[in-house]
Amino acid sequence: MAPQAAQLDHLAADRERMVERQIAARGVDDQRVLDAMRQVPREAFVAPGFEEFAYEDSPLPIAEGQTISQPYIVALMIEAAEVRPGDRVLEIGAGSGYAAAVLGRIAAQVYTIERHGGLARSAQDRLARLGYRNIDVRCGDGTLGWPQVAPFDAIIVTAGGPEIPESLRNQLTTGGRLVIPIGSLSDEQRLVKVVRDGEHAFHEEDLGAVRFVPLIGEHGWSEELPEESGAPIEAELRPPARSRPPTGLLRQTAERLPDLDDPAFGRLFDRFADARVVLLGEATHGTSEFYRARAAITRALIERHGFNIVAVEADWPDAAAIDRYVRHKSRPPEATPAFRRFPTWMWRNLEVHEFVDWLRAHNEGQEPAGRAGFFGLDIYNMSASIRAVIDYLDKVDPEAARVARERYGCLTPWQHDPATYGRAVLSAGYAKCEAAVVAMLRELLEQRLLYEAGDSEDFFDAAQNARLVASAERYYRVMYYGAAESWNLRDRHMFETLEQLLAWRGDGSKAVVWAHNSHIGDAAATEMGEMRDEINVGRLCRERFAETAVLIGFGTDRGTVAAASDWDGPMEIKQVRPAHRDSYERLCRDSGVSRFLVDLRQGRSAELRSSLLYPRLERAIGVIYRPETELASHYFEASLPRQFDAYLWFEQTRAVTPLPTTPRPGMPETYPFGL
Ligand code: SAH
Repeated sequence: MAPQAAQLDHLAADRERMVERQIAARGVDDQRVLDAMRQVPREAFVAPGFEEFAYEDSPLPIAEGQTISQPYIVALMIEAAEVRPGDRVLEIGAGSGYAAAVLGRIAAQVYTIERHGGLARSAQDRLARLGYRNIDVRCGDGTLGWPQVAPFDAIIVTAGGPEIPESLRNQLTTGGRLVIPIGSLSDEQRLVKVVRDGEHAFHEEDLGAVRFVPLIGEHGWSEELPEESGAPIEAELRPPARSRPPTGLLRQTAERLPDLDDPAFGRLFDRFADARVVLLGEATHGTSEFYRARAAITRALIERHGFNIVAVEADWPDAAAIDRYVRHKSRPPEATPAFRRFPTWMWRNLEVHEFVDWLRAHNEGQEPAGRAGFFGLDIYNMSASIRAVIDYLDKVDPEAARVARERYGCLTPWQHDPATYGRAVLSAGYAKCEAAVVAMLRELLEQRLLYEAGDSEDFFDAAQNARLVASAERYYRVMYYGAAESWNLRDRHMFETLEQLLAWRGDGSKAVVWAHNSHIGDAAATEMGEMRDEINVGRLCRERFAETAVLIGFGTDRGTVAAASDWDGPMEIKQVRPAHRDSYERLCRDSGVSRFLVDLRQGRSAELRSSLLYPRLERAIGVIYRPETELASHYFEASLPRQFDAYLWFEQTRAVTPLPTTPRPGMPETYPFGL
């Protein structure tokens, strides 16, 4: 029977959009399910105040700490249960009554059980008010089923239990389908479909990973358990990877990678020749193949397509030492050697060394203005930047240098451990240095015309250092307000530095960026972007450069990696665990192609792209790697084709080769190499 509530046009439009984008686009194609989802007014089922979110792509809270399921999950479960007109259906976990209403639009009769009396009553009232006459709501323990009205053609359980309750299987008709999430409370659950083939014959299918609120009852979890174990009562956080994984399609579409030293490898990237910025990621901070592949791509882009900026996730003043080396700028030796801060192996390694030597040799044959430079986007070496600004002013404007010493003196107590600055400012009433560092930057920029008359490159370098100090001061302060805020500030600084570089090198300038996947993949396509509003360099580049920004991700299954166990800890060579079964990495491994490139841009391999769209796990190893807690510490959820324009896969990889961090006795510090 049709619901009678009058619907406003815009709600119908929201519903239509929900069905198209969240449900049909993800592959639910049962027309009855789509039609039913178009008809049920979801806003009538959410908690008061949540109406405006009713058509969002997520579960929402209802009373008793429970949730109304995400629309896609409701559709997916009903499709999997193959609900047909004429069917008698049992639902366990009525909650708001929403899923029951959708079922009621398709089946002949729906029975639904809810353990919370209050929820059961309000679901019943709501369904009656909306005019549903074919739904019976009952309060009780659904793990026992509803023997009085059994058997059922389909049973759907919308809470997760430890195992499949016998009682439910036995209340299926022959040919009947049961769909239920199963698994431990703290870890993951699997959505399982059980089909009854005969009196005692059943078979099961695994529909993927999900997260539901706990099923509590005689054949479920015990009542005390969930609260005590701190179990997630957030409902489905991780919807299933639907249908069969597209390994075959991946195998056909993947472009095999030639040897990294083969010129054919570089030519694979000719397709990105017209980009303004090519961003090259990495899935760890210590994998040789990622560095060597990025070097080979960068060489090709510089040699064949006129790229003239290499901007990397390293500190500005440290990278500046390499830049002077590769662009043949004579300078006195650095006061303090570059790349001596943790994590030294990130830039002090054989792979970077070889690339830097190539760049220097390549530049030798170029006019100075045409030489490609090497720059750092990151903000961690605040003390070197302070020193660089003061050294510069000592040369061009000693009076300004005196002022700079005084102003930056505010930060002196924290220079060796800037992370404590934020806390000190907040708690101990220490003076905030914000005004001083901002004034310093402003005055330096105001003197631009005067200072630039000397050496404009030196001025640019000093201005970047002053910008860095201003960003770093804020960075260490907001660190105490939350990870997302400081992350955003750092990535915004990195992006702005890239923009400064492009503007400074003029119209034809083109940049290659080397940074971790987490900086260069579009944050909007990851759970960090969706749930914590994180932005990153990749996101900002897309906003600024549209399709002339190319975001290339990298991944691996297993091997060795250089990483530490703790911040500031020693570098270790660790084993990378084979990828998690619900990850993109696992999918790549299962393709059977050991090294490949996939072009994920719109309109290229459309079929592969859409088969990869629905989010899966993805692994990120940084300077810290903790294999013992890998799932919790290193995996996040993302939609790979939305995150990257292309993806490079190296099934098995090995750690970078670090270079010594202390000079050999009697030898001057020679990094960056041979000066
Ligand atoms: N189908 C619901 C989603 C509800 S969330 C909707 O569309 O809104 C799961 C519900 O299962 C919760 O309301 C929870 O109270 C209920 N539940 C948990 N264990 C149960 C049990 N053994 N019997 C009946 N309901 C149960």
